[in-house]
Amino acid sequence: MGVMHIPGHEKQGPREVGLDEIREVMGDCRLCQLCQTRTNIVFGTGNPHARVMFVGEAPGKHEDLQGEPFVGRAGENLNGILSLAGLVREDVYIANVLKCRPPQNRNPLADEVLACSPFLREQIRSVWPDVIVTLGNPATHFVLKTEIGITKLRGRFHQMGHFVVMPTFHPAAALRNPAWQELLEADFRMLGKYLAEHPQGEPRVDGAAQSDALPRLGE
Ligand code: SF4
Repeated sequence: MGVMHIPGHEKQGPREVGLDEIREVMGDCRLCQLCQTRTNIVFGTGNPHARVMFVGEAPGKHEDLQGEPFVGRAGENLNGILSLAGLVREDVYIANVLKCRPPQNRNPLADEVLACSPFLREQIRSVWPDVIVTLGNPATHFVLKTEIGITKLRGRFHQMGHFVVMPTFHPAAALRNPAWQELLEADFRMLGKYLAEHPQGEPRVDGAAQSDALPRLGE
């Protein structure tokens, strides 16, 4: 994954680069084929210094039309279960691995992820959250650098450099599967407990699975 140079910044350390600067670099991005079919770029939204950052897969139909992540039924589901973690939407920052909608909501292609992921990497570095919640397999595979399925990874926290990562089901997928919805809600309760029991700015989980993925993010 390439490192993106943000004009005016030498090192691009944690919280050094503003989200608006990253959006400016993105401009009318044409780095992959999804630029030809998108309606809007869906950059991300929320608290620029959030303690919890959510990472999804890619915009869907409603997100593409409105230019915002997690609107429509998946967004309503997410908004509802945030309260299980003691959070509201304004507390968190939400972005996707891809900023443009794949046609017919197909899975992201490897070259699309490669082209777009430097934007996400800089967003994470800018927000510098304690906890990254990955929603669904593509986001989890990208962040944790693994091919292991979400059902095996969810239900616990993973320490990854500076960050604590909580993989869970995508709220859209959980709407189609009541058993997954129950597990999704259990994960959000687990997140609320973690946030209540750990001091802000010291994201550590005793006994968490270790990963050296994305070392530059956690340095
Ligand atoms: S998906 Fe990402 S890399 Fe591709 S055109 Fe959209 S913003 Fe650019």
